[in-house]
Amino acid sequence: MSTIEANPEVDDVPVPRKNDHEVTTARNAQVGNLAVRRLLPLRTRRSVGAWCFIDHYGPADTDGRTGMNVPPHPHIGLQTVTWLLHGNVLHRDSLGSEQLIRPGQLNLMTSGRGIAHAEESVIPPSAADRNPVLHGVQLWVALPDASRQVEPAFEHHAVLPQTPLPATATGRATSVGRFAVTVFLGELAESRSPATAFSPIVGAELTARQQQHAAGTLPLRPDFEHVIFVANGRAEADGVPLEPGQLLYLPTGLEAAPVAAQSGTTVFLLGGVPLGEQLLMWWNFVARTPEEIAAATARWRDGEFGAVGGYQGEPLLAPALDVARLLRPRPIS
Ligand code: MN
Repeated sequence: MSTIEANPEVDDVPVPRKNDHEVTTARNAQVGNLAVRRLLPLRTRRSVGAWCFIDHYGPADTDGRTGMNVPPHPHIGLQTVTWLLHGNVLHRDSLGSEQLIRPGQLNLMTSGRGIAHAEESVIPPSAADRNPVLHGVQLWVALPDASRQVEPAFEHHAVLPQTPLPATATGRATSVGRFAVTVFLGELAESRSPATAFSPIVGAELTARQQQHAAGTLPLRPDFEHVIFVANGRAEADGVPLEPGQLLYLPTGLEAAPVAAQSGTTVFLLGGVPLGEQLLMWWNFVARTPEEIAAATARWRDGEFGAVGGYQGEPLLAPALDVARLLRPRPIS
């Protein structure tokens, strides 16, 4: 996916809630025809671990005319993580990759020094694949400075480790179900994703699938910071009630967080070791300096990222570059 806007920051001011935790509210944004809830970056927090961008979209009807239609656009300095709850999205990139993704699968694109891609809702010819409801998240992972110039790559993982989260022992234990946990990036407890990661990180989906309330204790690495958000339903994490569009931040130093949810709820846990690097994000580029942004913009204008085959339509044009805004001091996250 792509940010259409040059500056993707969410302007909401964090509101302290409980035990130094903070809950922020998504900003509504548009990616083409698709309405998204943009949960990260925040003006005051540009990354959580290496996660530097969180868009949550849908559930939205797609009928072949609406839905996701992001024309070819470039990326540098990041990995894109595509994860669906419903529907399907077709990915094409300048390496020649063409991959339809379905719920429970991971599309992971490592831009390294540069890649271009397009993502579209499609109406698959197979009735079994036909699903007009699109619901998912688009996440970016910043590449640490030492890995920013790696070769571009694309991975599709149809099978990912799943583990049940031990149910929290409570007086209601007989009526409380377990979360099913899928680790799509990094590791959580004993489960490790096969996807390529460049920093200590976790990305996991928790679902309360059973026809009952689910509760459990998330094991957390104390050297990680984390965020938790829900994609549908209602949950409570570390005592904080959450609904879609809210982002709970958990600082380093925690070893566990209790989480509970209504049946049918999907919860996301993202975290990692604080990056400790000052990111400069503009349009679809994650860089460190305005000069890098300007150079990448010129490379895109000059067609140096390569063509995305198979897409019917024109590539995206970069917005006008405002160097003065790029040079504005930013907090280190
Ligand atoms: Mn993209």
